[in-house]
Parts: sequence; C-alpha cells; structure tokens
Amino acid sequence: MADVSRLPAAVVEYWDWQRHAACRGMDLAVFFHPDGEREPSRGRRVDGAKQVCASCPVMTACRDWARSVQEPYGVWGGESEDERRTLLARRRREPRTTPAA
Ligand code: SF4
Repeated sequence: MADVSRLPAAVVEYWDWQRHAACRGMDLAVFFHPDGEREPSRGRRVDGAKQVCASCPVMTACRDWARSVQEPYGVWGGESEDERRTLLARRRREPRTTPAA
C-alpha cells in the first residue's frame, strides 16, 4: 500500500505544475513498470519516459516533488525510481551540516 503521509495537502499551489506536464494524458505504462518487468524492457521503457521528461516544462518541479515525497515508483522529472532511491539513500548517509553562524 502506498504511504501517503509525505504527500502535501490538497492545495492547488502544490499540484498546479501538473497541469503543464508533457506526460499529461499519456499512457502511464510509459512511466510505471508493469509487474515482473525485467531488462532490457525496463531500460527501454525508462529511456522512453526520460525522453518525454527532457522536453517537459515542469521537469524540475516534478523531480523535486518526487524526491520530497520519496515517490517509490515511476519516472518523475527525468529520474527513475532506482536513481531516486540511490540519491535519497546517499542523502540519508551524509552527515547533516549546520550553517556557519
Ligand atoms: S517531468 Fe516527466 S513525469 Fe514529470 S510531469 Fe514532466 S513528463 Fe511527466
């Protein structure tokens, strides 16, 4: 079951960027893997999704959103779930620094 605790409130300003998404109306199967997907199909699907993202006007907002809610599935903002998982794991391992006073 999806963990929705990290999702922002249902406020338009949090979600409005999605109205400008290049993937709007596209088949979700381009961005989310089917059950049991393996290589090389997976790599081809992810590359195709990333090509759509590369021309998307809200790519940065999409990627930042997916990172902030730790979206576990799909290509968001040109980033695969594996890339996002790796980045978030690295961030958790990095020591927190406090700004100099
Ligand atoms: S960056 Fe990719 S996944 Fe995000 S809204 Fe744009 S096309 Fe869709």
